[in-house]
Amino acid sequence: MRVGIVGAGIAGLVTAWLLDRTCTATVLEARSRVGGNARSATGCVDGVAGVFDLGTQEVAADESSLHTALLTAVGLDERHLADVPSSHTFSAAGHAFPLLVGNHPDRPVHVGRGPAWETVRSFLEGVGEPPDWHVPFGAVVEPFSLPPEVRDHVLYALPASLFGCPVADVPALSARVVLTDLLGVADDTVPRARILRSGMESLAWALAAQLTTAEIRTGAEVDRVERTDDGYLLIDTTGRRCAVEQLVLAVPAPTALRLLPPSMTGPGTPLHVLRRFTYRPLRYALHLDPAYVPHDRSLWSTQNLVSHDGWAEASYWYGPSYGVDVFKSQITHRSAPPRRVLATSTFQALSPTTDAIGARQALAALQGHDGLHFAGHYTTGPGDQESAIASGVDVARRIAPDSTRLRLLPTP
Ligand SMILES: Cc1cc2nc3c(=O)[nH]c(=O)nc-3n(C[C@H](O)[C@H](O)[C@H](O)COP(=O)(O)OP(=O)(O)OC[C@H]3O[C@@H](n4cnc5c(N)ncnc54)[C@H](O)[C@@H]3O)c2cc1C
Repeated sequence: MRVGIVGAGIAGLVTAWLLDRTCTATVLEARSRVGGNARSATGCVDGVAGVFDLGTQEVAADESSLHTALLTAVGLDERHLADVPSSHTFSAAGHAFPLLVGNHPDRPVHVGRGPAWETVRSFLEGVGEPPDWHVPFGAVVEPFSLPPEVRDHVLYALPASLFGCPVADVPALSARVVLTDLLGVADDTVPRARILRSGMESLAWALAAQLTTAEIRTGAEVDRVERTDDGYLLIDTTGRRCAVEQLVLAVPAPTALRLLPPSMTGPGTPLHVLRRFTYRPLRYALHLDPAYVPHDRSLWSTQNLVSHDGWAEASYWYGPSYGVDVFKSQITHRSAPPRRVLATSTFQALSPTTDAIGARQALAALQGHDGLHFAGHYTTGPGDQESAIASGVDVARRIAPDSTRLRLLPTP
C-alpha cells in the first residue's frame, strides 16, 4: 500500500515512524527541515554551548506518557532530559510591581507574591473538577466576579499569550484547554516541565533517522491534492507528483483546507469542518538582553508575562534550564524589538475555541473515509506535543494495526 503523509511535524513523523516497514510511505515537507513547530537553534552564550528552542520547548513532566515512551523508543533517554521549574510572573504595562509572582526555586521570601496571588489561588481551588471540553472559559470565570485587573492581566493573560489571541477572545476558549496551563500558576510547589537538552527538534530528527522503508522529501511543498480512481495525487509546487492510495494530512487545518479538492465541499465533508479551526500568528525572538522581564531579577520566573494594549506576551527565561541568560520572547505586538537577537521565527497558533472542539469531534467522525486521514495538534487533546503524537498513533493504528512499533507506545 502507498501512503502519502503531508507535513513532517511531530504528527507526520510519528505516523511515518509507525507505518515504516508496513507499507510504502512518503512524507512531503515544505520546509528544508523536519520538526514543524519544534525549531531549535544552536548557540554559544558566555562560553556555554546550548541548543535553544524557538518554538515547542517543553512537555508537562508528569503528563506526557506518549512523549516519554517515544523518546525511549528512539534512544533519547534520561541523560537527554532535564526537569525545569515552570514558574510565572504576571505584570500589566504601566504597573510598577507585578500582579502575581509565582513560586520559583530560591526566590527570596521578601519579594512577596503580588496583589493577585490570593484571588487567583482561591479561584483555581474553587474551579473543582476539569470542566467538559465544550464549556467556554468565560462561563467558568464569570460566576466568581473577579476584579477585572486579576481576570484580564492574569487569568486571561496566560491563554492569550499561549494562543496568540487578544485578551478579549479568551472567554470563548475551551475552559478545559485553558485550565491545563493555568492550574499550577498559584501553587505552593513549583510545577515542573521537561525539556530536551538537545532541543525539541532532535526528537524529529531521531524519528527520521529510524525510517527504513519510508522516505522523507524536504523542500517539497504540496500545492494541491487531486482525487484519482484508487486514491490521491499529491502535486508539489515544482510540479512533482506522488500517487498514493491512503493520504495523511499532518498539516495545520487551514493548509489541509487549501489542499483538498473543491469536490469535497458539501455539508459534513472535511472541507466544511476544517473551516472552523482558526489560527493566529505568533512571532518569537531568541535574544540575550532582558528586554521584557522585570528590572528586579528576583522577580524573574521561567515565564514572564506582560499584558499591554489588549494583548499578553511572554518572555521565557532559559536561565534555569541552561545556566545562561537567554530569553525566548513573543514579539508579535511589542512596541520595541529586543537588541541582542540570536534568531527569530514566526508560527501559527491554533485558537482552542469551543467551536474548534466541536469541529474536532465532527472531523473524528470523518477520519479514514475514502482513505483520507487527518493528523496533528488540532485533532485531539489540548493541542500540545502529546496531542500531536496521539493523533499520529491513532492514524497509524487505522492504517497498519499490526505495526510492531505501536506496541512501544501506550494507548492514547
Ligand atoms: C510557538 C509554539 C510553541 C509551542 N510550544 C509547545 C510546547 O512547548 N509544548 C507543547 O507540548 N506544545 C507546544 N506547541 C503546540 C505544538 O503545535 C505541538 O506541540 C506540535 O508541535 C504540533 O505538531 P504538528 O505535527 O501537529 O504540526 P506542525 O508542527 O505545525 O507541523 C506541520 C508541518 O507541515 C508542514 N507543512 C505545512 N504546509 C505544508 C505543505 N503545503 N506541504 C508540505 N508540508 C507542509 C510544515 O512545514 C510543518 O513542518 C507550540 C505551538 C506553537 C505554535
